[in-house]
Amino acid sequence: MRDYYETLGVSKDATQEEIKKAYRQLALKFHPDRNHGNKEAEEKFKEINEAYSCLSDPDKRAQYDGGGFSAGAGQGFGGFGGFSDFGEVFEDLFGGIFGGAFGGRRGPRPERGSDLRYDVDITLEEAAEGVKRPIKIPRTVNCAECRGTGSRTGKTTPCPGCRGTGSIRYQQGFFTVSRTCGKCQGTGQVVTDPCERCRGTGKVKVERELTINIPAGVETGMRFRVTGEGEAGSHGGPPGDLYVVVEVKEHAEFKRNGDDIFLEMPLSFVQAALGTEVEINTLWGVERLHVPPGTQPGQTFKLRGKGMPRLGRKSKGDQVVVARVMVPTKLTDRQREIIEEYARETGEAIPKHGIRDKLRGIFAAGS
Ligand SMILES: [Zn+2]
Ligand SMILES: [Zn+2]
Repeated sequence: MRDYYETLGVSKDATQEEIKKAYRQLALKFHPDRNHGNKEAEEKFKEINEAYSCLSDPDKRAQYDGGGFSAGAGQGFGGFGGFSDFGEVFEDLFGGIFGGAFGGRRGPRPERGSDLRYDVDITLEEAAEGVKRPIKIPRTVNCAECRGTGSRTGKTTPCPGCRGTGSIRYQQGFFTVSRTCGKCQGTGQVVTDPCERCRGTGKVKVERELTINIPAGVETGMRFRVTGEGEAGSHGGPPGDLYVVVEVKEHAEFKRNGDDIFLEMPLSFVQAALGTEVEINTLWGVERLHVPPGTQPGQTFKLRGKGMPRLGRKSKGDQVVVARVMVPTKLTDRQREIIEEYARETGEAIPKHGIRDKLRGIFAAGS
């Protein structure tokens, strides 16, 4: 195990003040900003940080002295507490020296909130007429208690992970790379007294009620954007949008095809042959339809302008009525005679004995 006292160059009974002083000197000397691309200095810098984060904490130091402290060499900053001390040291260490090198504390970057998706099922009738639908969307908003700061008193301290800059810079080959600090989410500040309502996150989940207007003529899969009703933004960024995705449910009777509505019309073979007047349901009420004599199965009749409204326009599609001719499945003896009579009249040959007659004959003979 590495000797932390040796690393900092202090004696085992050094005071906290001495440890802090030694650390400052070494940190300045080996800081990556002063030793671009120097691997050795980088390694040394890590070591002194590790040593300092242990020895600057009286509890950890006591543990370490007792031999029970086992911070592996690979353990990063995240493994230790005592961050606020750490941050302070860096503050007065580098605050005045490098000045602009740390970007002079940029504010946190405003970030737009996420978009939300809400699926809504409507009936075909609702799609035809258009519908106002109250919906409840769970979403996050800035906590009212702390006004989104996440802090009970509004107090924050510079983030120790990035020394208040909001980004972590490191050397990669010839380049200095910087990425957003994960500990403070790039704000450069951490909350020391978390708000109880939002547990320091600055965000709370709420259920928001909205009434959405679904226009007449919508189809399954259509998306509507409600601007600004998505998740709250961060650090003063704008909220995201809400997307309402519509699904029009299948109708028991009407089948939709674009703007047209299809409906089957059952006719008896008598109605089909002789013609009739029938009442037809449409989305817009009952219509009378004249069915001419000799109507064929599958023949269609158009009720103009009785279909779905065309989205965003005044006009409507048509209703297409499809004739379905029903053939009787059971005949009384009398009905059969009449149909046979009809067949003789038209000269159509009728089998003398159908299957059923044959069976009837067999049973009659047996009994
Ligand atoms: Zn940070
Ligand atoms: Zn809060």
